[in-house]
This record gives sequence, C-alpha cells and structure tokens, in this order.
Amino acid sequence: MTTLPNTMDAAEKRSAALTDSYGRAITDLRVSVTDRCNYKCVYCRTGNEGAQYAELPIADYLRIVRIFVSLGIEKVRLTGGEPLLRKGLADLIRELAQLRTSTGEKLDLALTTNGHLLEAQAAQLKDAGLTRITVSMDAVDAATFERITRVPGSFERVLGGIRAAQSAGLAPVKINCVLLRGFNDNQIPLFARFAREEGVIVRFIEFMPLEEDRLWTPESVVPIREVITQLEAVRPVVRLQPNSHSETAVRYTFDDGVGEIGIIAPVSQAFCGQCSRIRLTSDGKIRTCLFSQFDHDLYAVMQRGATDDDLACFITRTVEKKEARHHIGEPGFLKPSRSMVHIGG
Ligand code: SAM
Repeated sequence: MTTLPNTMDAAEKRSAALTDSYGRAITDLRVSVTDRCNYKCVYCRTGNEGAQYAELPIADYLRIVRIFVSLGIEKVRLTGGEPLLRKGLADLIRELAQLRTSTGEKLDLALTTNGHLLEAQAAQLKDAGLTRITVSMDAVDAATFERITRVPGSFERVLGGIRAAQSAGLAPVKINCVLLRGFNDNQIPLFARFAREEGVIVRFIEFMPLEEDRLWTPESVVPIREVITQLEAVRPVVRLQPNSHSETAVRYTFDDGVGEIGIIAPVSQAFCGQCSRIRLTSDGKIRTCLFSQFDHDLYAVMQRGATDDDLACFITRTVEKKEARHHIGEPGFLKPSRSMVHIGG
C-alpha cells in the first residue's frame, strides 16, 4: 500500500466522519451545477459548442449536498462549467446556507466563476448566503485576457463583476490566474500591482493537463521560482503562515504588508497528502480526484430510489477509494477522460 506523509494528528483523524483509506479527512465538496460555459479559455475548452449539457434539478443537488454535509463536509464550493449560467443558483445557495455542519457551524459556502455575469448577480448571491467568491481572471490587460477567453468585451465584464462583488460585501475577492507559457507569463508583475491596488487576493495556479485541446506539456507550466522572481521585481515578498492544514496555496505578501499573492502548484509541488476534497460533477457523479480514471455514479443510485442512508453508504464507500495522489509528469500518466469544464474546477 502507498503511504502518505502524516499530515493530520490523531484527533483530527478520529473526529472526521468522512475519511479516506489513507486517513485524510474529506471536508471539502466541490459541486458543479452545470457544464455549460460562456467562455472558451484556451487552456480549458476547444471552443466547439456541443448541444448536449448535463445538469440535475436544483432540488437533487440540494439533497446530495445535505447528505454529504451530514457525513462531515464543512466547505461547499459551487462551480461548473460557469455556475452563474445556472437558473436557480441563488435559490440553491439560500437553501445551502441553512445547513449546519456536524459541529453545528454554518457551512463555508463559496463559488468559483468567470465573473462575466457577476455584476448583475453579486448582491443577490451575497443576500442568499454566499460566504466567499473566487473569480477566474488570467490577465490584467484586455487584449491578453480576450486572447485567452476568446470572448470580445470579456475583460470589462469581469472587472465590473469583481468590483460588484466587493461592493456587495464579498471581499476579499480571490482571483485565480492559470499561468500558461506564451499566453500570460508576462502578467505576473501586473497582477502584483492589481492585488495591491484593488484589494483582491491573486492566486497563480499551475496549468494542469485537464484541457480539451492538447496544449499541456511540462514546458507550458510556469515554474514557481519564476513567479517569485517576477513578483520580487515589484517589491520583496514575505511568506505568510497557512490558514489551515489543507490549504493549497502558499501565501505571500510584500515587505510593506500590502497585497496578498498565493501560489498553487499542483504539478510541481503536489499537495495530495493534504487533500481534503471530493467532487460532484454536474451529472451527479462523484470524482475522488481531478485525475481519477473513474466516475462513481451517485445519481444513478439515487434514480433507482435509494434512501438517504443508501446514498450516505455509497458516498462513504466511494471516499474510501480516493487515490493516494496524481501522477502528472510520470511515465504512463493517463489524462482523465473528462476535462476541467466537465469535472468542475
Ligand atoms: N467557469 C468558472 C470559472 O471560470 O472559474 C468555474 C469553472 S472553471 C473550470 C474553474 C477553474 O478551473 C478556473 O479557475 C479555471 O481557470 C481552472 N482551470 C480550468 N482548466 C484548467 C487547467 N487545465 N489547469 C488549471 N486550472 C484550470
């Protein structure tokens, strides 16, 4: 059996109801509420529109999340596809905000969006009970941004969305930027200034082989040391303490304490040993790892008339199958059959 670094203490392991076979507490659920998207980001989608998309009724997502929460989930992140395209999203958030974790706390309820429709929806989402928001934004100049999203006018829309989220009380907004050699690796100092001036937390993420087109190579990943060097060209950086044991970002500020930058390096510095995540695809399948070769069809079980206890049992058994780690860059690595937009980022 593969062993993992011991990243949790015994008390944490005992108290976690949902635990995988390596002793990792699974507390973080990502739910994709649609696999439709209005952007065609080069590192994610081909841009070829399929007529088919997969969505469950909002009530079914709600039932599934309730069961996950009863088993020990503490954080729920809604994603997609593009979640703001999903009708009934605010209603789902309102219901989820009523749920309590097994220790009686409110759920940590977050959303990841491309921000295109955010300006009109930010206040409504906050009122419904959304706690936190992450906006994906891969450049701070309009031309580079639109070369990546392949949607004219998208930059101004996203900027408007970020500011609306801040005004609605969803600050600090987190910005996710996937770094891609030859597309946006010149944006790092601009993002440093953007973080400092706009009061957002910018997180640089390594490009992972989860795209529909075949774009990924080891050389397309921008190494962390290069990110740090480019940040240092703006001001010296200072490392911050992690917020939690399962935090994926290594956090930095600048020497004057203004601005926060995170670096998330799933490829070069994998954090599988601390992984606390599980995913539900928009068609109701559980994914135990982004790079898993398997889907576990929870919705098929539900449609056969399963009780909540049956579903809880299915979830618990599926979590036990969670992979030890991913194998990106190793000989024999197999790309998963689903791309990021169909898994839920
Ligand atoms: N549409 C929403 C958005 O743009 O944030 C949510 C879904 S999107 C698939 C979620 C996140 O996955 C985004 O931050 C996106 O940049 C990231 N992503 C997509 N493909 C990726 C890849 N191949 N490597 C790393 N991150 C990726």
